[in-house]
Amino acid sequence: MTQLRLRTENLHEVSLGQRRVLFHVPTTSLFDLDDLSCQVLDFLRHERPEADSTAVVEHFHGRHAAADVLEALGELEALDLIAAPGLAKPRAARPPIPKDSLSALVLNVSTGCNLACSYCYKEDLTSPAAARRLSPAKAAAAVDLLLRESGRQQRVSITFFGGEPLTNLSLIRQVVAYAERRGAETAKTFDFSMTTNGTLLDDTVIDYLDSHRFGLSISMDGPREVHDRNRRTIGGRGTYAVVAPKVRRLLERYRSRPVGARVTVTAGAVDVLAIHRHLKDELGFAEVGLAPVTAGLPSGLCLGDDEIKTVFAGMKTLAWRYRDAALSGRDIGFSNISQMMTTLHEGNTKLVPCGAGLSMLAVDAEGELKLCHRFTGNPLDGFGDVATGIDRARVEAFIDRAVARADGSCASCRARHVCAGGCYHEAYARHGDPFHPTDHYCELIRDWIDTGIAIYADIMANNPGFLGQPRSSRRNIA
Ligand code: SF4
Ligand code: SF4
Repeated sequence: MTQLRLRTENLHEVSLGQRRVLFHVPTTSLFDLDDLSCQVLDFLRHERPEADSTAVVEHFHGRHAAADVLEALGELEALDLIAAPGLAKPRAARPPIPKDSLSALVLNVSTGCNLACSYCYKEDLTSPAAARRLSPAKAAAAVDLLLRESGRQQRVSITFFGGEPLTNLSLIRQVVAYAERRGAETAKTFDFSMTTNGTLLDDTVIDYLDSHRFGLSISMDGPREVHDRNRRTIGGRGTYAVVAPKVRRLLERYRSRPVGARVTVTAGAVDVLAIHRHLKDELGFAEVGLAPVTAGLPSGLCLGDDEIKTVFAGMKTLAWRYRDAALSGRDIGFSNISQMMTTLHEGNTKLVPCGAGLSMLAVDAEGELKLCHRFTGNPLDGFGDVATGIDRARVEAFIDRAVARADGSCASCRARHVCAGGCYHEAYARHGDPFHPTDHYCELIRDWIDTGIAIYADIMANNPGFLGQPRSSRRNIA
């Protein structure tokens, strides 16, 4: 008889009251564990890690029929949760990248920004007067590229980015008009979005964006004393007093879509509960997304080890509040956890951390294609340009290296198909290498993802309608 080994890297258990739920790592699926499977797993985990199937059957003799035990072992083996040492299923090869996978472009319409936030990571940032601006011809070529490279996909999206994108509103208007005309000709719908610092919003701008259903995200960091720490004018003044009234006006006037706040969480401002409360409950944003900064900034701005822990602890508290509200059908507007719910609900088994290079590319002010908005202005090689098209060989080579991380330092991590190695830009900022795992806080990431899995399992068990119908139907949990 062959020895069996529990493949702990492929399973993660969640307890929900009396129920034990299995998170199956290779497929990111949730299964209810029956009593016998629980007992077999416990036996292999705690009593006889080196047992063979005969020993397992003998252990349960008198309590479970041999056929039932063998059936449970067979099921666990089929799920790759147990295997003879060295006989684990080989990892599937990376699927080919479809030729029409592009669905989103980020356009860097200007490198200029009217603020000088102390934590800005943009290598190409300038003042508005010195800005390099994407030309109308290159912007139109970018729209055409997106139409061409998106194949049969009917919905495509354009995100305007900068610098501060509203410093080049005239180009944004031209792009929207051109995209809507070309969309009508090609039976495609464009979805527009933008992250803005909010300083240039007025009723005319708000109404224009509203009439084209822009998805808006406003960069705000929290209450005045937190926001003003880093979000300052070129002259060094805090911008809360300017931004907050404009945000109130925006939220009062904007009808087409919910508006979110994007928070950069840096050293010295780690009370994420207070930040969320201010932005969601006092200012009235529909949702708040937190971006903790751990790399790429002067050390005085990056979160230190203890601060990262504090931030994650606060995020977990917010996540459980999200669960409590979700069970009674309410949404507290915390996008970090709601995005994870979407990932788990769609059943995506990630091989790479995000769509950068695959479904999404960014266009810099010169028209070069970059991995994502964070890499515009970055010396890392691009992936073609709007005139000549996507350099597919480069994209393939990049994605191959990204996927290879799953065989390296992330291979035994239970979060590997949700985190998939972490953000390329964060790795680049910290290690000078986009493929380096973001291993300085992996334990916190795993804990955060474990929290998300437990919350997801709880919501699916007790109020599944809250998350809507999964787009993938391979959930095994009720
Ligand atoms: S980066 Fe860390 S947390 Fe993410 S998959 Fe790799 S080992 Fe796991
Ligand atoms: S590389 Fe990082 S910043 Fe860029 S799209 Fe991916 S997760 Fe986002």
